[in-house]
Amino acid sequence: MNDPYTNAVSQLHEAAKIINLDESIIKILSHPNRVIKFYIPVKMDNGSIEIFEAYRSQHSNACGPYKGGIRFHPDVTESEVKALSMWMTWKCAVLELPLGGAKGGIVVDSTKLSENELERLSRGYVQKIHKYLGPDMDIPAPDVYTNPKIMAWMLDEYEQLNGGSYAHGMITGKPIEFGGSKGRSIATAKGGFFVFEEAIKMLNLSKKNITVAIQGFGNAGATFADILYKEGFKIIAVSDSKGTVFDDNGLDIPNLNQHKLSTGSVKHYGKNISDVDIIELDADVLILAALENAVRKENADNVKAKLIVELANGPITPEADAILEDKKIVILPDILTNAGGVTVSYLEQVQNSANYYWSEEEVINKLHDFMKNAFLKVHDASTQHKVSFRKASYVLALNKVVKTMKFRGWI
Ligand code: NAD
Repeated sequence: MNDPYTNAVSQLHEAAKIINLDESIIKILSHPNRVIKFYIPVKMDNGSIEIFEAYRSQHSNACGPYKGGIRFHPDVTESEVKALSMWMTWKCAVLELPLGGAKGGIVVDSTKLSENELERLSRGYVQKIHKYLGPDMDIPAPDVYTNPKIMAWMLDEYEQLNGGSYAHGMITGKPIEFGGSKGRSIATAKGGFFVFEEAIKMLNLSKKNITVAIQGFGNAGATFADILYKEGFKIIAVSDSKGTVFDDNGLDIPNLNQHKLSTGSVKHYGKNISDVDIIELDADVLILAALENAVRKENADNVKAKLIVELANGPITPEADAILEDKKIVILPDILTNAGGVTVSYLEQVQNSANYYWSEEEVINKLHDFMKNAFLKVHDASTQHKVSFRKASYVLALNKVVKTMKFRGWI
């Protein structure tokens, strides 16, 4: 069962059982409010026209405007975008942000596009669906293979389509000089670290003895590695889509970062391993920072870590989740642990609407409060209901979303 939306709905059902949620409410929440599928024609540099398939899924706006990133990846599907939009609803609710859930994507290998083609594609996305976007309607952000530069093009396109009216809160993850927030680029990793820090305290793990393996070395994974390295943790393995590197004395992360910058991958840095999947490596902590379905029923039984940190969205299938729970492996779930990105996106929007900007320290302090409070609430709910952190996070999220739906008279 590796279909992301089937997985997302199955997680919803599991959590709904704990709080005896009414069938009709589950029915509503099992469907996004709106899914837009569209095609973007782009004039390529050689004069030909290419058509790109694109999506925006708006799952719920019960608690606030839809919020969620846009992914550029050849494997984007409607099911994936719908699942990611549902997870955004829960994530914003767990963090008690006044936002709903959405996600977008374009089926594209953006590494094959020139800079100009990428700009035309990014602007084309906004041209097609700008009526459904806006600071009070739906606020995109970066995700896999999208970045601040793409956000800037999208914002400019949106403002031009709206007669030049200033609407910086329409998108987050912007360059700092163009209305972005300080701290946004490290927010997901930093937020994940704040949760991880609380969790290891609670589990009585000493950082001196912990070994860490990290799957995915992009924005989330590489920044997390950097933070752990500076904090004195021993990272024994790191992987990206091209390969896995290993050092049982601990990898030098700044050097590895340099290597990745100059070669485009972690591959060929020091000792490479190909015979053991990083998921199955003997490390105390496994950080999942790549894509969905990294741990499935086929490999879950071979996981040796005691603690798993989900920086990626949906990296463990529900079947694998059950296996890991039986093995008493503690999982810090995505809808809590990687919520630092959307939390600072929210803080970015707050700064945009006030047109007043905070220092990085102020932003990170606020992020720390949000993440720590959310973790403590999840921890309490997990103790109260005697369930995993994932189920406890869902319970909190569902309680908030359902309460708001009731106030609105939707149910
Ligand atoms: P990214 O594109 O910067 O990095 C993705 C990394 O994963 C790359 O290093 C890539 O090589 C690697 N990868 C892909 N397939 C792999 C595989 N099979 N094995 C090992 N590595 C693989 O993306 P990102 O922004 O770091 O996002 C990673 C995950 O974190 C995604 O699930 C994303 O939705 C989630 N996330 C990111 C943010 C954010 O602010 N960046 C926020 C919340 C959640």
